[in-house]
Amino acid sequence: MKRILRRSTLVLIFTIAFIVGIGFFTVELVMGAKDWIAQPYNAHVSGSSGLEEAGKILDRNGNVLAETVDGERMYNGDEGVRRALLHTVGDNSLNISTAVQSKYRSLLTNYSLIWGLNMPQSMRTSRDITLTVDAPTCKTAYEALETTGCKGACVIYNYKTGEVICSVSNPSYDPQNPPEITEENQSEYDGVYLDNVLSSAFTPGSIFKIVTAAAALENNAPLLSQPSICYCNGTETFGSSDVHCYGWMPHGSVDLRRAMSESCNIAFAHLALDVGPEKMQSMADKIGINSSFNVDDTPTAKGHYKAPETDDNVLAWTGIGQGFDEYEDKVNPMQMAVICGAIANRGSAMNPTYIKSGTGGILEMMGIKHNESHNLINSDTAQKVDDVMPSYTLGGVNAHAKTGTAEIDVSNNINNAWFVGYSTEADCPLAFACVVARTNGIGDNTARPIVDAAMAQAAKAVRGY
Ligand SMILES: [Zn+2]
Repeated sequence: MKRILRRSTLVLIFTIAFIVGIGFFTVELVMGAKDWIAQPYNAHVSGSSGLEEAGKILDRNGNVLAETVDGERMYNGDEGVRRALLHTVGDNSLNISTAVQSKYRSLLTNYSLIWGLNMPQSMRTSRDITLTVDAPTCKTAYEALETTGCKGACVIYNYKTGEVICSVSNPSYDPQNPPEITEENQSEYDGVYLDNVLSSAFTPGSIFKIVTAAAALENNAPLLSQPSICYCNGTETFGSSDVHCYGWMPHGSVDLRRAMSESCNIAFAHLALDVGPEKMQSMADKIGINSSFNVDDTPTAKGHYKAPETDDNVLAWTGIGQGFDEYEDKVNPMQMAVICGAIANRGSAMNPTYIKSGTGGILEMMGIKHNESHNLINSDTAQKVDDVMPSYTLGGVNAHAKTGTAEIDVSNNINNAWFVGYSTEADCPLAFACVVARTNGIGDNTARPIVDAAMAQAAKAVRGY
């Protein structure tokens, strides 16, 4: 009897251990399936990255960006489109971790818990993913960016719906014929796997004056109640050293509107000191410069703003979008597009997305929420910033925008050229940010033409004519 009892107890213990083990394994498999399949070491599961049965990736109009034909992954027929959308679509190597083909491989290949990759054809549901991007707009933007020969990015998104219309990053390559990156050519491909729209941050220069203007307007900076902020001689001493306007150009008597349109550094140096380090910091934090946010499920690169407590010269330079060393300003292109969209949208920032809604529950499967917005700045402040933003016509679209030329290496005339802003036309609610890094050009002659070309196409994509 005693022996039977002991034996039953043993059987019971083994049974419990077995059930717990199975349970643990199942939970691991269910919870971790997405990660497990996405591991690079699992590429061998089905050969070339598991893409030979993957679904299509389409642009907003159904143009095929990637599809599998006879087991081979084929990209768009136009090399320009392929290069433009490399960072958004991805390639066979899966080296660009933020690209759709890398992030959503299990979905594209219809990876199933029960069938693995061998789900019978009859049971397969839609495995295609439709993106919000417009292939012709991306091609136009990329070709303009590529001619600069510089690292850079251009993004255009709909600030009412969040749909990203254009997203390009340089350097790039053709995913249909990927280059062999060697020691000789590696400088040409430096940072090629990074999507500069989402994953890089650059010194902003004068586009940061949007943030300084918002800080001054929201806090009723005393200088703004005067007829002019200052008289600009092209250079002036702040703290221990000088601040100069671009090219030491004197602007004379400037109010906020002229300070923005002429991009007068002296005026913004005065404003940054007038607002003070605490409130400059608080606006930069509130508007999201020091934060990362998720685009679909990719976290953006954080920017950087740190106001020095005691150094007036450095505080002045941070208010102009430069700063030095630990006080050097940095911004991310997507972040700037969202800030501009929020100004156009009376303070409300719509989260960007690359995945088109209404494509068979795919958003839910990816855990992506659309149409999420949050208040980035007071609507009153947004209105006041909008009032002083310079006007442009870009690709036939009326817009408000700001140029930026961050002086990276003054003696060698190396700058980051920027152009950011938003359309002011109700049927074309587009915000944009473009950066060309380490160029000899300036914002107005290097970044603006890229946006100009891309906006003409983007407006067509959004309006449908
Ligand atoms: Zn000036």
